[in-house]
Amino acid sequence: SSAFAKLPDAAGDEIFAVNHAFTIDPHPQKVSLALGVYRTNEGKPWPLPSVRKVEEKLFAENDINRHEYQAIEGDKVFLKLTRDLIFGFNGRTESLAEKQAKRRIASVQTVSGTGANHVGALFLAQHLKPKHVWISNPSWPNHQTIWSLVGVPRKTYPYFNSRTRSFDFCATIDILDSEAQEGDVIVLHACSHNPTGIDPTMEQWIAIADLCEKKGLFPFFDCAYQGFASGCLDEDAWAVRLFFNKQPRMEMCVAQSFSKNFGLYGQRVGAFHLVTNGDSAAVIDLVVQNLCHIIRGEYTMAPRGGSTIVRRILEEDALRKEWQRDLIEMSSRIKAMRRALLNELRILNTPGNWDHIINQSGMFSYTGLTLKQVLALKDRHHVYMVKSGRASISGLTESNVLRVARAIDDVVR
Ligand code: PLP
Repeated sequence: SSAFAKLPDAAGDEIFAVNHAFTIDPHPQKVSLALGVYRTNEGKPWPLPSVRKVEEKLFAENDINRHEYQAIEGDKVFLKLTRDLIFGFNGRTESLAEKQAKRRIASVQTVSGTGANHVGALFLAQHLKPKHVWISNPSWPNHQTIWSLVGVPRKTYPYFNSRTRSFDFCATIDILDSEAQEGDVIVLHACSHNPTGIDPTMEQWIAIADLCEKKGLFPFFDCAYQGFASGCLDEDAWAVRLFFNKQPRMEMCVAQSFSKNFGLYGQRVGAFHLVTNGDSAAVIDLVVQNLCHIIRGEYTMAPRGGSTIVRRILEEDALRKEWQRDLIEMSSRIKAMRRALLNELRILNTPGNWDHIINQSGMFSYTGLTLKQVLALKDRHHVYMVKSGRASISGLTESNVLRVARAIDDVVR
């Protein structure tokens, strides 16, 4: 028999499976609220106008080097710009304090946010050797997969309180305080927690940072929605910068994705930044060398097509401003759809309280629908979402929101 006949069951990713079921459903009024991708009010993908402009320029320039290999660590200019974007350096004026702060950071280009999470996890597994990694319950399911692949024992902190439909701050602090061990890694969502759409308040973030310091935990920020969540790049980076600027200095890292905020999903653009507590160039060199060792062995280098687009937008003032308008367009439409859904549910007098739909932020709403209700939505109404009841709000449009509200109304009665 085959050497692979007894492989463990590794059923495919639920989100992509639901998306496939949606794709093959012939119903003319089907609605997908499954995949975390931006859609226009016509339900179509949206290549950002700022991205299109750069694509046209690049095509016209016809640079013969555009398909050449790049350095293993990636495009250095792209890395500086993306570092500045998340940590809040403006790139022009540079005080002594800023210069020193930048010297704390080692950056490499990655295969999008997933690749940044993976390279970071593997690096920490090998060189920090944490006893555990703490992942929120629930979280982006890939966090569990990524950390299991690198062999670090996983524990969860109880992020979501289903009774209050809010962040269970006290339970999180309690468990970390009593059970986390020095050197453990804690995965934190920088903004727009996936799947709940609920982030800690500023006071709660401050308490989490203090706890990390007190217990010697290593914060691992996953940042997949900067600028996409609120429309404001600085607001969405607030928690990362709080930890970064904390005194005494902490070591930490950030996995940065450009899938959502540049609409470059399939281009796989990302970066991993590891922050040290000193500003020794020798230590940074060692970190970069070791990250490059992993990258070389796994895929040699991240792709350069999408990262060139991001670099050009971040380095040219006019394009950057246009991109910020694109971010506002996307985040505003999502906020408007949250309001529209809530409004329709109120008009229908749907049983229950649905205020959480507008209190949550970012791509997703954790609707509170049960598995049975989610299945009924699909079977009776051709409205698709994942089993947890997480709805990707950008699948809503002005023309389908009433249909979705009626479907929800039907399944909860
Ligand atoms: N982290 C979180 C929390 C996400 O929601 C996502 C995308 O859905 C990612 C990371 C990474 O996505 P990508 O690999 O497409 O950049």
